[in-house]
Amino acid sequence: MSQGKINVSVENIFPLIKKFLYSDHEIFLRELISNATDATLKLKHLTSIGEAKVEYGNPKIEIKVDKEGKKIHIIDQGLGMTSDEVEKYINQVAFSGAEEFLNKYEDGAKDTGIIGHFGLGFYSAFMVAEKVEIITKSFKEEPAAHWSCDGSPNFTLEESKKEDRGTEIILHIAEDSTEFLEEGRITELLNKYNKFMPVPIKFGTKTETLPKPEGAKEEDEAPTQEVDNIINNPNPAWTKQPADLEDEDYKGFYRELYPMQFDEPLFHIHLNVDYPFNLTGILYFPKLTNDLNVQKDKIQLYQNQVFVTDNVEGIVPEFLTMLRGVIDSPDIPLNVSRSYLQADGAVKKISSYITRKVADKLSSLFKNNREDFEAKWNDIKIVIEYGMLSEDKFFDKADKFALYPTVDGSFFTFDELQEKIKANQTDKDDKLVILYASDKEAQHSYIEAAKTKGYEVLLMDSPIIAHLMQKLEGSKENITFVRVDSDHVDNLIKKEENQISKLSDEEKETLKTDLEKTIESKSYTIQLEAMDSSASPFIITEPEFMRRMKEMQQTGGGGMFGMGNMPEMYNLVVNTNHELVSEILNTKTAKKKERLINQSLDLAKLSKGLLKGAELTEFIKRSYDMVK
Ligand code: ADP
Ligand code: MG
Repeated sequence: MSQGKINVSVENIFPLIKKFLYSDHEIFLRELISNATDATLKLKHLTSIGEAKVEYGNPKIEIKVDKEGKKIHIIDQGLGMTSDEVEKYINQVAFSGAEEFLNKYEDGAKDTGIIGHFGLGFYSAFMVAEKVEIITKSFKEEPAAHWSCDGSPNFTLEESKKEDRGTEIILHIAEDSTEFLEEGRITELLNKYNKFMPVPIKFGTKTETLPKPEGAKEEDEAPTQEVDNIINNPNPAWTKQPADLEDEDYKGFYRELYPMQFDEPLFHIHLNVDYPFNLTGILYFPKLTNDLNVQKDKIQLYQNQVFVTDNVEGIVPEFLTMLRGVIDSPDIPLNVSRSYLQADGAVKKISSYITRKVADKLSSLFKNNREDFEAKWNDIKIVIEYGMLSEDKFFDKADKFALYPTVDGSFFTFDELQEKIKANQTDKDDKLVILYASDKEAQHSYIEAAKTKGYEVLLMDSPIIAHLMQKLEGSKENITFVRVDSDHVDNLIKKEENQISKLSDEEKETLKTDLEKTIESKSYTIQLEAMDSSASPFIITEPEFMRRMKEMQQTGGGGMFGMGNMPEMYNLVVNTNHELVSEILNTKTAKKKERLINQSLDLAKLSKGLLKGAELTEFIKRSYDMVK
């Protein structure tokens, strides 16, 4: 038996491990299973190149919880260690054996999927254990070794009688970590971190029902048998070639990833590159609602099939974090701060690769089956619009397939729209005016008025649409978006000179004074307009610019004018060519004049959905009186 001191430069590393890794105690199991997996995959590699002359067989990793004895066992059938190797790999903390192995076998070992590279993995056992034992038998013809350490830097190393190849790690769980002796807690961890690891992991057994033997009676119970409870799927879909997978396989994998999700994904994107970085994965477009805040099932990040995190901020472009699925890349540095991560060259490349793949997929869906793409538009637009806003490269690609739906359910790309409306919707300054509504019901009368003029009206109702319109106006030439209710229809697209006014300037002055006397409210700016005599006498409009700025403020950004608490601003457009307006002007009795003005204003408010509460009650009463 040998004794010694673990070779660490600091006096005692264990308090450090406990302290610095405190928040993440549960990762000890991931680390130990990763080591067991590495040991198994290393053996596989060595047998395949003839360096280990042993039978590889069908190795598995077993986890056992001994609640009474307060122990957890992690047992593998991998390559094991000789006692010299224990000295070297275990006693020299922070000396990563995995790294050495990969260096030694360089190219040949690149695709072995070996995980470890942090060098502190094994010692994370001391976050939960007061004593750790390793009993290990190498594939080489050498006696087994038994290492034991009680958490101080002192260890013992002696021979062991272990006969079969592989390693058993025994954790004597500390008093403050007994939660890990609960089967449920271990199951939870296995499901979180190890669900797709490449070597089968056994945790207990389960009862399987067998088919009834032939000739069994109806009431006979089906026979059962105890089988290993394998908690992982060693060959998850993302590790396979896209050509080997059917649509059903992708859907099946989605259910495997998110067992609590009952919706089907709209489509998937299979990621697969190995140069200049290594990345595999599958992203899914789920049906997205406009509520951007509820998002519990997120994209999961793996490294060589080991779950790392579901916080992919900085790795996946922000607009794509609304998607679901997995990405697996050994090239993403872990244990570094997010800002460091964002500055990392490989990570930047990964992020733009993902953006490009998503854009390409959307583009091919659009080209190959436009009808289907249109049908899905409402569920995916938020990602695309957000992407167009935040990533210029994505904007350039998406500009070809982003759709602009009309209130009547047709869909145009931007180019198609431009072509369609340029004859009728170009104003006298040669600006293309794109009309839109945000709510088909509330803006119904305005939409109808625009349609009568032969205008196309888009339906733009995403939460961030104001920002996107701003961006489009900035990047396209000579276009402007105008909401249908932002002015009277005759003014939406200003063409040649206006109608001639029936009223003289003097009469207009009088009318304005009359109106201002009755309409005390400061919330309307009165605007006299000579319009067609068939147009409504009073119309309430909401100027585009102010409204859009306010909307942009509410959805973040664009707040440069500090309009957070700005009240809504409306214009009251009065059609001076309308008969009723002449009547208001010519009415001699003040009472009647007031009533005509109030009634007309209320009708205008009603059509804008602004007449509510006491005002509405009063309006109804007044109307009945007038009907009498
Ligand atoms: P890493 O996994 O990054 O190499 P660890 O601290 O997790 O670092 O492990 C240190 C070394 O100990 C490994 O590289 C390996 O050589 C050895 N080792 C740990 N666990 C096992 C095991 N189950 N079987 C064989 N060797 C192991
Ligand atoms: Mg390790």
